[in-house]
Amino acid sequence: MNKIKIMEASVKKWDRIIAGKGSDGGVFDCPPCRIFYVLICIGCPISEYTGKKFCKGSPYPDWYWHQIEEHGEFRKKVRCDECLRLATAMRNYMQEIVDHLKAEAEKKKKLKQNGP
Ligand SMILES: [Zn+2]
Repeated sequence: MNKIKIMEASVKKWDRIIAGKGSDGGVFDCPPCRIFYVLICIGCPISEYTGKKFCKGSPYPDWYWHQIEEHGEFRKKVRCDECLRLATAMRNYMQEIVDHLKAEAEKKKKLKQNGP
């Protein structure tokens, strides 16, 4: 299991939402949720990054509550400028985690090269 690939898939999911071509089905179509939600987020790259569970500490709760309070639709997608802003924040946060994981992998590689 490659956590970088999982998070890259998550960036793509949010890219599609921003482009108006996709919707957010929460845990049902979130690449890391598919693996880690049943484990109550243990091992999830988002949870490891935020230090919290269920995407708390990420931009997701703002997106979620905006969808519920402003639009009240089951299918969460971009319906107004605020949706677009929040979806972009989420997309960028997923990318930030990809960059973080890549930097960590690079660090490990260097340690191995310099190690005994
Ligand atoms: Zn909206």
